[in-house]
Amino acid sequence: MPVTAQPPSLAALENSSEFIARHIGITAEDEQHMLDVIGKPSRAALIDSIVPASIARSTRMDIPDAVTEAAALDELKAMAGKNRVLKSFIGQGYYGTHTPGVILRNILENPAWYTAYTPYQAEISQGRMEALVNFQTMVCELTAMPMANASMLDEATAAAEAMTLAKRSVRSKSHVLVVAGDCHAQTIEVLQTRAAPLGLEIKIANSAQEWAAALAGDYFAVLAQYPSTSGRIDDLRADVATVHAKQAAFIVAADLLALTLLVPPGEFDADIVVGTTQRFGMPLCNGGPHAAYMACRDEYKRSMPGRLVGVSVDVHGNPAYRLALQTREQHIRREKATSNICTAQVLPAVVASMYAVYHGPQGLKRIAQRVALLTAILARGLQGLGYTLTSSSAFDTLTLRCATAAQAQTLQAKAVASGMNLRRSWEQYLSISLDETSTREDLAQLWSVFAQAGQTLPTVDALQTDAAPLIPAELQRSSGFLSHPVFNSHHSETGMLRYIRMLSDKDLALDRSMIPLGSCTMKLNATSEMIPITWPEFANIHPFCPADQRQGYAELDAQLRAWLCAATGYAGISLQPNAGSQGEYAGLLAIRGWHASRGESHRTICLIPSSAHGTNPASATMAGMQVIVTACDASGNVDMNDLRAKCEQHSANLAAVMITYPSTHGVFETQVKELCALVHQHGGRVYVDGANMNALVGTAAPGEFGGDVSHLNLHKTFCIPHGGGGPGVGPVCVVADLVPFLPGHVAGGVPSHGVGAVSAAPLGNAAVLPISWMYIRMMGSDGLKHATEAAILAANYISARLSSAYPTLYASASTDGRPGHVAHECILDLRHFKESCGVMAEDVAKRLMDYGFHAPTLSFPVPNTLMVEPTESETLAELDRFINAMLAIRAEIAQVETGAWPQDNNPLKHAPHTAACVVDAAWERPYARELGAFPLQSLKAVKYWPTVGRVDNVYGDRNLFCSCVPIAQYSTT
Ligand SMILES: *Cc1c(COP(=O)(O)O)cnc(C)c1O
Repeated sequence: MPVTAQPPSLAALENSSEFIARHIGITAEDEQHMLDVIGKPSRAALIDSIVPASIARSTRMDIPDAVTEAAALDELKAMAGKNRVLKSFIGQGYYGTHTPGVILRNILENPAWYTAYTPYQAEISQGRMEALVNFQTMVCELTAMPMANASMLDEATAAAEAMTLAKRSVRSKSHVLVVAGDCHAQTIEVLQTRAAPLGLEIKIANSAQEWAAALAGDYFAVLAQYPSTSGRIDDLRADVATVHAKQAAFIVAADLLALTLLVPPGEFDADIVVGTTQRFGMPLCNGGPHAAYMACRDEYKRSMPGRLVGVSVDVHGNPAYRLALQTREQHIRREKATSNICTAQVLPAVVASMYAVYHGPQGLKRIAQRVALLTAILARGLQGLGYTLTSSSAFDTLTLRCATAAQAQTLQAKAVASGMNLRRSWEQYLSISLDETSTREDLAQLWSVFAQAGQTLPTVDALQTDAAPLIPAELQRSSGFLSHPVFNSHHSETGMLRYIRMLSDKDLALDRSMIPLGSCTMKLNATSEMIPITWPEFANIHPFCPADQRQGYAELDAQLRAWLCAATGYAGISLQPNAGSQGEYAGLLAIRGWHASRGESHRTICLIPSSAHGTNPASATMAGMQVIVTACDASGNVDMNDLRAKCEQHSANLAAVMITYPSTHGVFETQVKELCALVHQHGGRVYVDGANMNALVGTAAPGEFGGDVSHLNLHKTFCIPHGGGGPGVGPVCVVADLVPFLPGHVAGGVPSHGVGAVSAAPLGNAAVLPISWMYIRMMGSDGLKHATEAAILAANYISARLSSAYPTLYASASTDGRPGHVAHECILDLRHFKESCGVMAEDVAKRLMDYGFHAPTLSFPVPNTLMVEPTESETLAELDRFINAMLAIRAEIAQVETGAWPQDNNPLKHAPHTAACVVDAAWERPYARELGAFPLQSLKAVKYWPTVGRVDNVYGDRNLFCSCVPIAQYSTT
């Protein structure tokens, strides 16, 4: 009798951990090969020889087991369903908007855009930098200011950055910032948080009298909202002269849509203008992510925070974009930095700029006029029903006075019952904000809420005939804007689609090749993780809507916090910080608040090793701490003798020590537990920068080995895509006694115990949290740990295979006498080539572009090196493709070393090669054209062409030019 194989059971056919193998690129078979190369019998043996036994996790993370993609989506959909989407008339900086479908699908939901990295490598980032130059131009023209950067984190932090920009730019020596009380509440809250550690005072003027009195006093700057949060449009022109006479700065928080109709701040000599671009196509998102903007006068441009895209030229003399003034960025200026902003809001900024490209100046103006007219009609109707408005001027927001607070409450509840959220601005005051999505039907429904029994309802038709917008005649804008061709060319959908596609074709993102950027963790951003972010139940929630309409978000927040606590070993966590830098800042505020609560406010010294990421010292400075840099030893570890000496020297005033673990040198330092104990002994707290959590999840927990506070970068370890430079999420995690010092948010209903809001929205970049939730849910505890181990395996495989060509600079001391190992990234030492043949790490970075790769992290944390972080998501084939490219480049370097090619005339120095340069008739180089463009045969089948040659950094900084220039693609020849 033949034996028939037993058919598989149902349980065996149900593979709930199926996603794990989709996320981790390395198969079991590949793993064995990689371990052989490294010289380790098993993955467990490899990890045991790398993660110090003293900190290795003994318990499994308390995170549920993996489920399939479909099951995770179902579970999240049920949670999303607990949010209730009402029509929002709340305003207060967040408005309804129609995301044009072509932008939704081809940018927000397109990996070519959302998986790109920050455009540090200019030659492979021309597309997104053009979009960002469009953003800067749009902001400059709408505000009538000469300079704008490419995105701030939110309007409130942009206002805080404007405060410090003003403080360091004006002559006034005052420490007072006068703030109009009619600014958005969340802006005032964040300003107060940011001002306190810097010793600045926020003076709020709650009435016209208080404003006038305050302006007569002493201050370094004033801030007014235009139009105000209650909707009034003030003529600020006379005040500007008063402020300037005091050698102080005038800051305006302005609504970009309103500015299409209002005299822009630049025309009345404002110094700094900030605001959000949310209503240019980004949904409400429960508060974020949205791009904020900052524009300033020309004299301030070199001390403006954030990233600025500039126009330079490439080596062939063609215009090319690049990030300007990079040497001035916070990671170089360190403790002298004035801002810590690193990850910003690039993807939302691209959406906003495309919204302007799509609608053009006439389209934007039409949208604004319609909103303004609907608002005027609404006002008439409400007045007809007997309500008093607090102001005769308005763009989109009306504030009305009810008879009593009780009546306001009743009306608000009645509106909710008919599916509409109004804003209860103050006791008996209600505010109503209209937007692009408002309709005639909405007006009728609003009137029916406000009408008393028996009153005749007004109608739009009856009121519109003689209604006119409520914009004061003297404040109507007469100047034009957005005259550049880019805002006047792509108004057909075909044209728009092709414009978006043309730009993304210029760029190299994760949808084409691995992006092995050390410290940045460019791993898979799975499609199933991305799908929920545009579900209306998540996207269309206003951050200040009643809490019972945000139950789904509350559950998401609670679950994600619990899982992240399990992953880090901490007791409490806040998801409010909307970038790693903001998490650092919030964490240091917690430490500061804790010391103050014990009567030890004098503890302000913060020790930071020299290898730290630049945001660390910048955040400490912003938190009012004094940074003292400690040394690293020859093997890249924190120099414990130096640290001990400095702890002793500053024992009485020690606030914190900030370390990164595993270190930015890519190694697990074995003495981390001692280090933490030492700091605690001296009364300080330990901040562990969690950007490298991709080496720790499941293997070791900072909250267990002695850390007191960490931030995570959900846009690194937890799969939120980099978006070309944001959005991110930077949760701050703390041990039990610091939990009371997590950030609050009074305007958003989060109680504060002394540490106020750090972001405009209570849940920060809430709408991208589903990405990390999905990742954790589909991986489960075991899958997450496996991912960490695979990431460490991949880094060690690359380090081993490249060791003879490019030695790894730092490795941990080996426990078994074999060569040491790295953590999840390795620093390749290229420094000796400078002497041997003049080749720099930058040349290798540019040459990799010809091979179709994005360079590893260049010159951080060690100058003239490349830091490679492959992550767990790459396949062995892709790792080998990268390794082979690096080896081929090493062979090219050898040709320069032997003198076969001159030091200044070889494929490395001429990299990257554009198509135009290799077909140029005047080719006079000592190597073949073919080698320039196709150094490997395989590139003939699939070739990525950089569209510009090497970009000239110096030229761009000397000629700082940051708005659109007419460029070739608009020419029809
Ligand atoms: C990325 C990074 C940061 C900053 O995080 P952002 O989200 O960019 O603000 C801080 N420290 C380290 C080590 C990092 O790699």
